[in-house]
Amino acid sequence: MALQTVRHKSSQLVGLAKRHLESLRRRDFVAGDALIDGRWIVGEERDVVVDPATGEEIADVARCSAENVNVAIAAAERAFAAWRELLPARRGAILRSWASLMLDHSEELAVLVTSEQGKPLAEARHEITYGAGFLEWFAAEGERAYGETIPSHKPGSLLQVRMQPIGLTAAITPWNFPVAMIARKAGAALAAGCPMIVKPAAETPLSALAVARLAEEAGVPRGVFQVLVGNPAELSTPLLRDTRIRALSFTGSTQVGRLLLEGAADTVKKVSLELGGHAPFVIFDDVDLEKAVKGAVAAKFATSGQDCLAANRIYVQRSIYDAFVEAFGASVTQLKLGHGLEPATDIGPMTKLSVANKCKAQIDDAVTKGARVISASRDVSPGPNFVFPTLLAEVTDDMLIAREETFGPVAAVLPFGSEEEVVARANASEMGLAGYVYTDDLRRALRLSERLEYGMLGINTASFTGPPIPFGGWKQSGLGREGSRHGLAEYMELKYVCFGDLAV
Ligand code: NAD
Repeated sequence: MALQTVRHKSSQLVGLAKRHLESLRRRDFVAGDALIDGRWIVGEERDVVVDPATGEEIADVARCSAENVNVAIAAAERAFAAWRELLPARRGAILRSWASLMLDHSEELAVLVTSEQGKPLAEARHEITYGAGFLEWFAAEGERAYGETIPSHKPGSLLQVRMQPIGLTAAITPWNFPVAMIARKAGAALAAGCPMIVKPAAETPLSALAVARLAEEAGVPRGVFQVLVGNPAELSTPLLRDTRIRALSFTGSTQVGRLLLEGAADTVKKVSLELGGHAPFVIFDDVDLEKAVKGAVAAKFATSGQDCLAANRIYVQRSIYDAFVEAFGASVTQLKLGHGLEPATDIGPMTKLSVANKCKAQIDDAVTKGARVISASRDVSPGPNFVFPTLLAEVTDDMLIAREETFGPVAAVLPFGSEEEVVARANASEMGLAGYVYTDDLRRALRLSERLEYGMLGINTASFTGPPIPFGGWKQSGLGREGSRHGLAEYMELKYVCFGDLAV
């Protein structure tokens, strides 16, 4: 595609996000201060927040300093003593009121998410419900951190394993789910009895700060949940160096994940990482084509493709390849590109220009190497951050898109012959987050569920996430799990206690 010939018409959309933000019932949601030690800090240094659809400045936020981080750590330390002593049911009650406040204000939160992140408003609303679900889940899960009693291997002894809060925690969160990723991490940490300091993505601070306002309103005590916005490296360095921070949770790129893992080594922190994906989506020729197309559209184009679960390599068995490409192409060309606040929009802008440019580079590379492009329109774009929903057919394993994550609305469809072949190709990746299989053959489904090297698999479904499941990846897609009882354990230490000399 000749990128330089694409014309932009973003000027027509300028002002849309600002007007929505001005019309919010809770105007204080758009405040750009940081929550440190129970106080809202107005920094002198400010960073701007832009609407990714237009590039227009929509707000400005405090740029916190390393010194602010130190104040937050000291506040978290003071708060920890009382928070860990609260009965789990009390902590749960606070988390539940935080969740219900999020749901009460879901429209305002959704407008904030769409304004700074770009996703369609309907998806932003769904994100708020999804995020509140984690707070509710962990409110209950915190009451079930049972520990174990071990049948003793020593006479006259009682062996117990207790689960105790790990201590102060920090989270560095991404821009693709700016509310839900905070709720998923903070819900678990707080339920476990740990305070958390959050550094949200620089692109999406407003959503994080609004979530913090609701935490305060819900009764989360001072210092237990704090949000600092600013330069990522400047804020993460003191968090990494401080021995009082015992656990760090990160969602984002594998590249930054590696840096943080290295940075956490000196103080031997417990690190959980949710990193990139490169999901295979395997379709066998015994399936109902319509269901497979519907699944592929959902798995590829949700969140405008900016999702670590996104189907990045769609492998289709050769005998149905042409029919699938035709039917999938017909659905892809129906997807409407636009501002997330416009009701008809299916695909919004990429939050970051670099992501849009990566998509375009992958399309160019694939076309140069012989891929066929099926796309709704490629002439007039709403703006530089937009990528037309695109299907690339006849993709081969040497193309960039088959080798690295796209994180945008570009679908790569690759033909395959046998089960053996597709399993090998699907596993030939350093990423191992999620995979999908569509087949009507139960034995084959069971075989693939065993052999695919991924942390999460959807068999005949594109929808499987939610609070009860252990979300996480194998290989370089990450460490640890979020959601489920395993997510709670990321913020707890095991303590083994042996009571001896009990024989009478
Ligand atoms: P990123 O990893 O740079 O950003 C994620 C978070 O890390 C943000 O909060 C950011 O401020 C922070 N960060 C960035 N540099 C940092 C540093 N040196 N120290 C500490 N924190 C730092 O991701 P990106 O560049 O914005 O996006 C690039 C790619 O990352 C995407 O194309 C996608 O592949 C991946 N990504 C994955 C997810 C996911 O859900 N797993 C989310 C966002 C991005």
